[in-house]
Amino acid sequence: MESKKTRNTEKQNLVRNILSKTEHTMSAEDIIHAMPIKVNKTTIYRILDRFAEKGEVHFITGKNGKAYYALCDNCGVSHKIHNHIHFECQECKEVTCQPNTLHIPNLEGFTIQETQFLVIGICNKCKK
Ligand SMILES: [Zn+2]
Ligand SMILES: [Zn+2]
Ligand SMILES: [Zn+2]
Repeated sequence: MESKKTRNTEKQNLVRNILSKTEHTMSAEDIIHAMPIKVNKTTIYRILDRFAEKGEVHFITGKNGKAYYALCDNCGVSHKIHNHIHFECQECKEVTCQPNTLHIPNLEGFTIQETQFLVIGICNKCKK
């Protein structure tokens, strides 16, 4: 019999694999739909939270309030400070990580623990 641990590792690997193949970010629902096996939302969120803690993934909150996840690309220790821009397309609703970065200002007396940059518009695929 397969142990619970093996199944969890398998699910984690599947999530990692799905995120590594996508060109855009994915919501928990998108990931569930892309999974070859049946997984519930709680499990997916648990996996994503864990990945986020370890610095494997980061997320951006879209216009609809949903979290969109993407694999992290050499984030380093201060993993929660992501200075790259995310673009949300009003047409296809895709949220993508953009290579463009923003300078994070030093806010006198404030401690920045997390940053999210979202830009909304029409993507190059939807622009006619
Ligand atoms: Zn990160
Ligand atoms: Zn689009
Ligand atoms: Zn990103």
